[in-house]
Amino acid sequence: MDGVYWRCNKGKCRNKCTIRQDTMFSGARLTIMEQLRVMFHYFVRNYNALQATIELKEITGIMSYRSVAALFRFARTQVHVYMQNQFRKTKLGRNGRAVEIDESIFAT
Ligand SMILES: [Zn+2]
Repeated sequence: MDGVYWRCNKGKCRNKCTIRQDTMFSGARLTIMEQLRVMFHYFVRNYNALQATIELKEITGIMSYRSVAALFRFARTQVHVYMQNQFRKTKLGRNGRAVEIDESIFAT
């Protein structure tokens, strides 16, 4: 999937941008497929970062604990924001507000 682009088809405009741009896949050193594998281990297998690193190392050869831990942290934050918004929607009637995140919650 890496090396694939979105291209604008409007008129003569042929602007391109990578499919990573402005998504959760931008910025990481892992390929998109590797990142998806990490996410699978987080959400479906419910592994912790160390277990996921060990298993992904067996499958893909190289996988750094730091990369896996960073993605797990990201996933945890997203779940937290989602839950907070759900809570606000039902309890306080305020959906879609920016959520302030207490870092200590995410310390591992
Ligand atoms: Zn365009």
